[in-house]
Amino acid sequence: MQNGEQILTTLLEMSRNLGKPENDYIILGEGNASAKIDDKTFWVKASGASLSSLEPENLVKVSFDKTLTLLKQSNLTDEEIREGLKNVRIDQDVKAMPSVETFMHAVLLQFDGVNFIGHTHPTAINAILCSRNAAEALSGSLFPDQIVYCGAEYVFIPYTDPGFILANTVFKTTQDYYERWGQAPKVIYMQNHGFIALGGTAKDVENITAMAVKSARIIAGTYAMGGPNFLSPESVDRIHTRPDEQYRKKVWGTR
Ligand SMILES: [Zn+2]
Repeated sequence: MQNGEQILTTLLEMSRNLGKPENDYIILGEGNASAKIDDKTFWVKASGASLSSLEPENLVKVSFDKTLTLLKQSNLTDEEIREGLKNVRIDQDVKAMPSVETFMHAVLLQFDGVNFIGHTHPTAINAILCSRNAAEALSGSLFPDQIVYCGAEYVFIPYTDPGFILANTVFKTTQDYYERWGQAPKVIYMQNHGFIALGGTAKDVENITAMAVKSARIIAGTYAMGGPNFLSPESVDRIHTRPDEQYRKKVWGTR
């Protein structure tokens, strides 16, 4: 079990890895990342900070309770949300402000087994998410490793206003997945926006993102050859539950 400072160090390393230019997951201030500290608090990237060069002062320690209480209020103006975000910080003296996606991180970190989250806009994935056939292209699995790392089913969220509304939509959709599968999803695709990896560990988030990006390139390739040939539900279920794949998940630190 890591303490707050160790979690911070791990989150910084994960954020910088996600931000490496050669990965092409994000540029400039795109994307954000978070990690659960305990039942009451989590770290989240500050608004405007760059993942690739993230420093401790670019992370904000935030209260779950205050963030989720704020999210339950309806009809807040953008200004009221911005003011509210100031108050969810544990240390009111820090200069950094939590990102507007803090709400989304708060709801997802509440699910069992989800300790680290990486939200990115990979070019390969967004090429699909910004396409007319996005929902169809992401509706099935194409090869065994995609299932091992990214799960048996992928959450797809139609375009929604980022921030408050998105967090509420993500919560409802993830809750629905949790009720059907008994665990949180590993990947969430947000139409015309980007990607979320939900990990038990920081390494998990990096692995999930890397495999989802590879999958996106393969999906795009299939459309040049007549479209994706999705695996049958029986084949997906077989990979998802077979013992040697469970072992592989354990070796690679995948939940
Ligand atoms: Zn985003």
